[in-house]
Amino acid sequence: MPAYDDQNIFAKILRGEIPNVTVYEDDDTLCFMDIFPRTDGHCLVIPKTPCRNMLDATPEQLAACMKTVNKVANAAMKAFDADGITLFQFNEGAGGQEVFHLHFHIHPRHEGLGMRPPG
Ligand code: IMP
Repeated sequence: MPAYDDQNIFAKILRGEIPNVTVYEDDDTLCFMDIFPRTDGHCLVIPKTPCRNMLDATPEQLAACMKTVNKVANAAMKAFDADGITLFQFNEGAGGQEVFHLHFHIHPRHEGLGMRPPG
């Protein structure tokens, strides 16, 4: 697997080099809105430390991300009056990953409503 490249777009967001719409932040993680939302409330949770994807993540990075996913997903259930949550996470190009900094997609879902196509 290639090494972490700190020129990826989420690393730039973490350094404040490009803007984002922050939903939640703590010492270890950042959650911000996806720029091409596939559902209302589609947001992304990332660790603040370098990590290419789940395959090179430490237990601490995974735990911190899941803690934030749990918080944000519960808040999104209420904020969007959702019926459920879909969580996506992709690893390497063959696994569907396009941005090579670990991230978890949170999608609030409603009964009978699909997802929009990828941006
Ligand atoms: P993935 O790597 O396949 O999970 O896709 C990367 C995700 O990042 C896509 O859903 C994009 O819409 C999203 N994305 C790419 N650039 C930005 C950005 O600058 N801000 C927020 N989301 C982004």
